[in-house]
Amino acid sequence: MKPARHHVPRHLLTDVDVAIVGAGAAGLSAALVLGRCLRRVLVLDGGPPRNAPSPAVQGFLTRDGTKPADLLRLGREQLMPYNSVEIAAGTVTDIEAMSGHFHLTIEGATGRTRTLSARKVLLATGVEDELPPLDGMRDLWGRGVLHCPYCHGWEVRNQPLAVYGRAKLVTGLALLVSRWSPDVVVCVEDPAYLTLNARRRLRQQRIQVREEPVVRLEGTRTGELRHIVFESGEKLARAAVFIHAHQHQRTQLAGQLGCRLTSKGAVWVSKQHQTSVPGLYAAGDTTPGTQQALLAAAEGNAAAISINETLTREECPR
Ligand SMILES: Cc1cc2nc3c(=O)[nH]c(=O)nc-3n(C[C@H](O)[C@H](O)[C@H](O)COP(=O)(O)OP(=O)(O)OC[C@H]3O[C@@H](n4cnc5c(N)ncnc54)[C@H](O)[C@@H]3O)c2cc1C
Repeated sequence: MKPARHHVPRHLLTDVDVAIVGAGAAGLSAALVLGRCLRRVLVLDGGPPRNAPSPAVQGFLTRDGTKPADLLRLGREQLMPYNSVEIAAGTVTDIEAMSGHFHLTIEGATGRTRTLSARKVLLATGVEDELPPLDGMRDLWGRGVLHCPYCHGWEVRNQPLAVYGRAKLVTGLALLVSRWSPDVVVCVEDPAYLTLNARRRLRQQRIQVREEPVVRLEGTRTGELRHIVFESGEKLARAAVFIHAHQHQRTQLAGQLGCRLTSKGAVWVSKQHQTSVPGLYAAGDTTPGTQQALLAAAEGNAAAISINETLTREECPR
């Protein structure tokens, strides 16, 4: 840890002021704001971000089309002048809430563990997508298999597209995707549950429904989709298939700490990005709401301001 430039007066001496768990858009953005507040910060980087399989981050003002790894590299580069901020590779495996501070257990790449104390912790750990268990899904994820038309619709506009999934989820997604292409086919896993109203809405939008079971996706070695293959052996040529991927928290840390979770499994936070555990904050995909890299960065920024203000209040009692 680099030496702290500014000593925190009248307060418990911990290794750092803030430990940020996760070095994606949310975590790095929070680190930038806290670095600018002269806070002692350690960012723990547990591996690639959620969008790592994707060729580019789209819709990020001034960075539209940047490779996901390049976005984070730029973020890290811009943290370099802030010498109270350190980024370390490591996975946080445990967080213990003490009275007024936290103890974190960090596992390095070699499996060695160490502990760290922090006054506040920000969870910026993101989510993991659950892909349908269909041959080819995982290989094409992020290029030929997509989840978000706002992220990828423009790149596949006016091309033959498909939407694959369960009856209760495909209709809304297919209607949305039809904004980007006039040629959308729905492949429904459980056609018996596709309501008459859903079928009518799809028909009105000229979206064809395919009810035969899909057995696999075929694509190129670089991840582009070529065909959807049905049980009969028939192949449907498509440029991309959209799915509604379920997701879960990338780590169990929030749950283990007893944080309140929403019905969808997101970490509940207040307007100040504070979880239900005092001193523990969360930002980015891990919290409820629209999931976009720019929004994750914005949430990291807001959480950092909230953390700094809380620390300042603690340091300057009335
Ligand atoms: C295929 C795909 C394409 C996408 N394309 C776009 C796009 O074009 N535009 C857009 O705006 N959004 C896009 N998104 C959404 C975008 O990826 C997310 O909104 C964004 O990555 C969220 O940032 P985050 O910092 O919250 O989480 P992440 O980027 O997922 O970062 C979380 C970080 O926390 C780390 N971590 C997790 N647990 C631990 C732990 N215990 N210890 C230490 N570190 C840990 C992870 O390794 C990871 O580095 C896409 C998503 C997917 C899946």
